[in-house]
Amino acid sequence: MTTMAGLTLVSLLLASDSVVRNSAMDQLSQTVRSNLLAVDIQDGSLQVGEEFTYYQSGVYTLIYSQEEALLAGQVPVSFTASEPFQNGVTRLVTTDQDNYYVLDLWYAKDWDTGVWVRGLIEAPQRDQTIQNLLSLAAIVLPGFILLSALGGYWIVKRAFRPLEEITATAQAISEGADLAARIEKRRGSKEFARLTDAFNQMFERLERSFEAEKRFTADASHELRTPVSIIKGACEYAEKFDESPEERAETIAMIHRQALRMSGLITQLLSMTRLDQGTEGASLAETDLSTLVRTVCREQTYPPEDLIVDVEEGLTVQGSAPLLTQLLQNLIDNGFKYGREKGQVWVSAHRQGDEIQLCVRDNGIGIPKDQQDKIWQRFYQVDPSRPHASGAGLGLSMVQKIAQAHGGYMTVDSVPDLGSQFTLHLPAKNI
Ligand code: ADP
Repeated sequence: MTTMAGLTLVSLLLASDSVVRNSAMDQLSQTVRSNLLAVDIQDGSLQVGEEFTYYQSGVYTLIYSQEEALLAGQVPVSFTASEPFQNGVTRLVTTDQDNYYVLDLWYAKDWDTGVWVRGLIEAPQRDQTIQNLLSLAAIVLPGFILLSALGGYWIVKRAFRPLEEITATAQAISEGADLAARIEKRRGSKEFARLTDAFNQMFERLERSFEAEKRFTADASHELRTPVSIIKGACEYAEKFDESPEERAETIAMIHRQALRMSGLITQLLSMTRLDQGTEGASLAETDLSTLVRTVCREQTYPPEDLIVDVEEGLTVQGSAPLLTQLLQNLIDNGFKYGREKGQVWVSAHRQGDEIQLCVRDNGIGIPKDQQDKIWQRFYQVDPSRPHASGAGLGLSMVQKIAQAHGGYMTVDSVPDLGSQFTLHLPAKNI
């Protein structure tokens, strides 16, 4: 701002200096020319009309003889130069004290008689102009700089207010005060809007991962409590009573079963947490679903004649092979777990319009109508005392999460005592 003000000052100075000089020269030329009209020579003697002005508006007019002797008018005291006469040329004459613009005009009466009319005007002092402007600047500039500094501070403060809000929210979150806090989106600069979005997305992810961690801790401690207390009770019993080798083997087998259950639970809970955080979603790739389904079914330990597979060729989806394998495995396990004695499970995969459908059907015990939309909830079990209900109610909630991570969804169709059909609907890749 100060540089700009300085530059403006210099250009003003130059412009005003040239304006002043031009107007002085105009004044000189006009006065001398009008005075020339009032000069005459009658019978060899000089006649000066009444309208002749010897001094007007800073212009001195003098009359000199042909021999350059002063006939009329008064030379200003500071004009000390002896300047030779030149007809019609305005020039700057520098003297010891002052500078003058000088204009001489020759008044010719006849061929060899005439007089010189000389005009003098003090040239405006450049130093003086500069001086005047500088004193003006000394008064105006500090005020101007102060004003622009205050204005600039106000504008910058206003423009950066959203940044202060972002900082305050980030601080509140980092101090653990409020993880659900979001920065309010204001109208205005696009850059700030983008920054706000980026921060809000980051807060969202932070909140989600914090929530997932909290839920994992709660679920894990809740679910692990049962096997841990069984193991504790078994150990206490074994310590207190002198068990026979058969009883001891049974206790060890029970501890082993509970340990396996705990390890399975932890694995399931960890996968759920990872899915909750959405980290698996990033690893989706083109996957040959037909081959995947056939491979998973071939590797099952269930009697092959009870697992009937019908898969269309060349079904491709955008997916994660480990997650889809886990989904199918959970559905097949449930099909047998909640199946009837010597029951069967049918696995099929087909293209249906814009989607690919993977179905797992059984002829088992089925699910009552009023419970069908609850089975997807974490830890929900239709009836924990059902035969083979060895799980923890996490399988289907994981199945649904996997479907959603693939941009798909799950449906269930079930009739008690007849059987159930679970269907995964996925958007087809190559239609
Ligand atoms: P779990 O590990 O207890 O089997 P799931 O989430 O896999 O948990 O299933 C939730 C509930 O849904 C189970 O308790 C079970 O009663 C019911 N269920 C799941 N699959 C079937 C099926 N194929 N037939 C009948 N009931 C089922």
